Amino acid sequence: MTDADARREEIAAGLQATRERLEAACDAAARPRDAVELVVVTKTFPASDVAILASLGVTEVAENRDQEARGKAAELAGLPLRWQMIGQVQRNKAASVARWAHVVCSVDREPLVAALAHGAQAAGRSLDCLVQVCLDPVPGRGGVMPDMLTALCDAVADRDSLRLGGLMAVAPHPGDPDEAFERLARLREAVLADHPGATVLSAGMSGDLEAAVRHGATQVRIGSAILGTRPVVA
Ligand SMILES: *Cc1c(COP(=O)(O)O)cnc(C)c1O
Repeated sequence: MTDADARREEIAAGLQATRERLEAACDAAARPRDAVELVVVTKTFPASDVAILASLGVTEVAENRDQEARGKAAELAGLPLRWQMIGQVQRNKAASVARWAHVVCSVDREPLVAALAHGAQAAGRSLDCLVQVCLDPVPGRGGVMPDMLTALCDAVADRDSLRLGGLMAVAPHPGDPDEAFERLARLREAVLADHPGATVLSAGMSGDLEAAVRHGATQVRIGSAILGTRPVVA
C-alpha cells in the first residue's frame, strides 16, 4: 500500500467513526440524524487531505488562516467544496477572505463587518456570516461578548453583500461544555426572534460534539477526530 492509500484509509476510518458518533449523538438528543451537518476542520493539513475528504463525500471544510486557506482553495478549485473561515480575521485580510470563503464563522466586531461587506461587494459575491459569541467570562479569546451580540447581528443583517446565517461559538476550556452551550442556546433564541433566517448554530468540536448536539447545534466542526493530531503551530 502506498503512503497515499494509507492516508486515505486513515481519513476514511476517522470520518466513518465521527459520522457514527454524530448519529449516536442525534439519536440520544432525539433529533433527526440529518439535523446536524459535519464540517471538517482542515487547518494545518495539506490540500491532498482535503481532496481525499472531498472524494469521501465531505462538502464543508473549515480553515483558520487566510494565506493557508487561499492556497488550498485555489489548488482545489475544481472540487465541490464550501470553505468556511473559523479563525480571527484581521481587517486587512477581509478582502482576501471574502474571495475564497463561502462562510465567515468568526465575525466578532463591527469594523470587520464593514471590511467584509466591502470585500464581498468588490468580489461581486454574497458572503454568509456567522457571528462568533464569546462564552468565556473574560473577553479576548475571540467572539463578541453577549451584551454586544444583538447589535453586531443587526450590523451584519444591514449589509447588502452579507447574509446573517447564525452563530458560532467555542466552549471554554477548562469548563463545562453543557453549561456553556446552554447559555449559547438562549442567546440564539434571542437572535432568532429578530432574525428568523439566522438558523445556523455552529458549535461542538472533537471533544464536545455530544454536548453541542444536545443544545441545538446545526453544525459541528471536527478536526483531530478525523484527520489526527495537528502539528503544534507557534
Ligand atoms: C481547530 C478548531 C476546531 C476543531 O478542533 P478539533 O478539536 O480538532 O476537532 C473547531 N473549531 C475551531 C474554531 C477551531 O479553531
